[in-house]
Amino acid sequence: MAEPFPLAPSLWATTAPPGPETPPLTESGQADVVIVGGGFCGLSTALHLAERGIRPVVLEAREVGFGGSGRNGGQVIPGLKYDPADLVAKFGPERGERLARFAGSTADTVFDLIARHAMDVPHRRAGWIQGAHTEAGLAEVARRAEQWAGLGAPTRVLDRSETARLLGTERYLGGWLDGRGGAIQPLSYARGLARAALKAGAAIHGQTPVTGLSRSGSTWTVTTAQGARLSTERVVLCTNGYTGGLWPGLAQTVIAANSFQVATKPLSDNLRRSILPEGQVSSDTRKLLLYFRLDHTGRLLMGGRGPFREPRTPRDWAHLERIVGKLFPQLDGTAFDHRWCGRVAITQDYLPHLHEPAPGLLIDIGCQGRGVGLQSTMGRAIAQYIATGDADSLPLPLTPIAPLPMHAFHRLYVSAIIAWYRLSDGGIR
Ligand SMILES: Cc1cc2nc3c(=O)[nH]c(=O)nc-3n(C[C@H](O)[C@H](O)[C@H](O)COP(=O)(O)OP(=O)(O)OC[C@H]3O[C@@H](n4cnc5c(N)ncnc54)[C@H](O)[C@@H]3O)c2cc1C
Repeated sequence: MAEPFPLAPSLWATTAPPGPETPPLTESGQADVVIVGGGFCGLSTALHLAERGIRPVVLEAREVGFGGSGRNGGQVIPGLKYDPADLVAKFGPERGERLARFAGSTADTVFDLIARHAMDVPHRRAGWIQGAHTEAGLAEVARRAEQWAGLGAPTRVLDRSETARLLGTERYLGGWLDGRGGAIQPLSYARGLARAALKAGAAIHGQTPVTGLSRSGSTWTVTTAQGARLSTERVVLCTNGYTGGLWPGLAQTVIAANSFQVATKPLSDNLRRSILPEGQVSSDTRKLLLYFRLDHTGRLLMGGRGPFREPRTPRDWAHLERIVGKLFPQLDGTAFDHRWCGRVAITQDYLPHLHEPAPGLLIDIGCQGRGVGLQSTMGRAIAQYIATGDADSLPLPLTPIAPLPMHAFHRLYVSAIIAWYRLSDGGIR
């Protein structure tokens, strides 16, 4: 696993309370379920299994929230890449509608879990605004708002002036407000999930990379880098954008691309009131989308594309700092004190994938950069599937692992697509 830019601790790592103790696994033993990966998916699966009286053991290569879960924008946004009507067209009325309901509920899961477990997580549920950067984007957001409203969601189409007032920038033609969305401190939430899972009876071991998986009959043996072995009937892989070579062909089913973020120093009260004054979070309709929000310390965070490779110097974030000045001229001269990035796993069909390549092994991969709510809710569905054996508990069908053809060349391919999208998205002038 390549080390991210060493001078780039995330904002969240500097503002989250410490996590619970998760010592490395040193002794071999048995577990009801072994979960590989301590992000939202693995931790939510563990919590929901433990609440059902099933004892899971989570093995995490680094620390809880090391992956996307501790590095993301903290924007809790329901839905998938596809709108409800697209899901029905793709999966048919029964499964499509069920999937749309699942996707529509993902933000509820996060805020319910924070409340139910009294987690120490800065959060605010004021909604998500998607700004439209073109006329086509305006049509897209109107369609999206209407479809979700038809399913009972609190949505509102915003005209140009209301969008400008709510975002604090004149750069968008309009947008929509989805009242289900909101903001969290994501690393605090990952740590809160870990605490809740431990309290419910799960075990979590950090600094414990899993290096081997083998099966004999119905028993799996999970081997760690330290040489400890766990026997179990069930294994769940939740390694997402940080998937390595543990299961053949799996890493080749996704493009694991870095998403980059910067955060300003805390803004003055006056400046804070001029940006997202009602506390929403926001991302836009660009293909290489921009996402921004204020955090609980009064910083503005801006996220977006970056180089496909791991970053090398602060210059790899300079484009985002320039964008902040263009979207919010009032921030001209404001200093940035955090720059970080993390990996997002993208599948070819832009849907999360669930695989069961052998009896007792379940794999979840591919969250397309919208995984705060999705992976929390997916974990609950996975726990239900394991407890009941009912595949209908899962929101998506189990599919075979299908590595992308010519995966080794995707770095070049993605770089070309990024350059093309950048042109077609238009610059920010
Ligand atoms: C910069 C960035 C911004 C984002 N912004 C948003 C946002 O605002 N809203 C949103 O909804 N989503 C966002 N996302 C996406 C979201 O963060 C992810 O979808 C989500 O966190 C994925 O959770 P996960 O549990 O599936 O995987 P991860 O959190 O990535 O966890 C995978 C874990 O597996 C571990 N692992 C890998 N291999 C092994 C092994 N062999 N043994 C043991 N452990 C292993 C890794 O160390 C890692 O901790 C963003 C992502 C990034 C990177």
